[in-house]
Amino acid sequence: MPNEDPKVTLRFLGTSHGLPEPDRFCSCALVETGETRYMIDAGAPPVSLCRRAGIPVQTIRACFVTHLHGDHANGLAEFTDYLNYFCKPDYDPEIYLPERAGVEALLRWVEVVGGGLRRPLSLYAYGPGQVYCRKGFALEARPSDHLKGARPAYSFAVTAGGRRILFSGDVSGPLDEFMAHAALERWDAVVIEAAHNDLDASAEKLAGLDTGLLIVNHINPRRNADRFGALARAVPFRCELARDGDVFEL
Ligand SMILES: [Zn+2]
Ligand SMILES: [Zn+2]
Repeated sequence: MPNEDPKVTLRFLGTSHGLPEPDRFCSCALVETGETRYMIDAGAPPVSLCRRAGIPVQTIRACFVTHLHGDHANGLAEFTDYLNYFCKPDYDPEIYLPERAGVEALLRWVEVVGGGLRRPLSLYAYGPGQVYCRKGFALEARPSDHLKGARPAYSFAVTAGGRRILFSGDVSGPLDEFMAHAALERWDAVVIEAAHNDLDASAEKLAGLDTGLLIVNHINPRRNADRFGALARAVPFRCELARDGDVFEL
């Protein structure tokens, strides 16, 4: 019987930790099902990078931001200005932020740099639980303790074309809260950030995941590169250190 699920790929536009590196933009990834794309975090300039890579920006159907730190959200200024200035209202991707203040600030920014709001924009504030569910793509936000509860931060559990993908978002050091839900399910891919957890110390915990692929993201090359080998040897599944431009087929 033919497999009717579409091809699903994960494309990394930015893989750096909080600071851009000479060869890495900050966190931004695309989940691609055929010619439809969903953006997870926007720490890189997504319009510039898509155009450079020959990806039609208007194939991005929605954008989800795990938390409102600049290294996950600064690219929204570029994306929304592009929508406001260059796109007709029939291209209307939904943009989901975890704080109402972010929606208001972004709208105001777009208004200022665009000399007014030229079209409606679909900006939403989301909370924990099911954020989005359309044909072939669903996203659930799971609270992360990255900001110690002072402000919201999330991991994203994604279902795309029948594949299950978990994005850690930013976590806190010990990974206990993340593993408490991540280890309960089977994943096709888990994307784990490496800026707030020590890959050496995390290896044993991450080995408890049930996944076909572990992708390390949010990388500080001076800190993470030499520790990656130990992690890759410690886990019983494929493990990759993501670079900008990498594409993983799931
Ligand atoms: Zn970050
Ligand atoms: Zn952060």
